[in-house]
Amino acid sequence: MTQSTKGKLKLVIDFDDTLVDTRSAILSLYKQSTGDLEVRDLKTHYYPDFCPGWTEQDINPLFEDASLFNILDPIDPVCQGIINYLRFTNKYDMVLCSLHRVNGIREKQKRLEFLFGKDTFHNTIFLTNIKDNKDYIVADIFIDDNLNNLITNKSKKRILFDKYGLYDRDYVRALGIIYVTNWYGVIREGGL
Ligand SMILES: [Mg+2]
Repeated sequence: MTQSTKGKLKLVIDFDDTLVDTRSAILSLYKQSTGDLEVRDLKTHYYPDFCPGWTEQDINPLFEDASLFNILDPIDPVCQGIINYLRFTNKYDMVLCSLHRVNGIREKQKRLEFLFGKDTFHNTIFLTNIKDNKDYIVADIFIDDNLNNLITNKSKKRILFDKYGLYDRDYVRALGIIYVTNWYGVIREGGL
């Protein structure tokens, strides 16, 4: 667990599908590789659902490959501006956290720095074992797109980032978790 700077709030942010649009990047590689021309619905918990010719075994190696990281874009057009704003308020130690099953951490880090700047994040935590979960992250504020990562988490303020509308807003709120669908919502609903 990383130490925070005195007087700053620790803000932990998930990478895939919270900061960057991993779904769209995977779909783009899928279409390129298979020639698929269908309009695909990205509203799903599992990547193979929108890549019907691929299994998890086809998708997992992409997370080690620069071809995926090089085309990752911010999940929201205002995301970079808001991350910059949060940085310059000087109120937060922003920590990037991501589950990572394989060996693409360097590429992920490179893309992170390219999109959001080198010194933006106070620290990065890559959980390399899928069996680790994010429960051990205890922050002042924790933002993730996966509800399961938030439900048992002990952070003071938990924010579900649900761009693709995978969850029921009222159900999430009843769990004491803030529900947002874009990065304006992170500062507005999240009170950042
Ligand atoms: Mg995620």
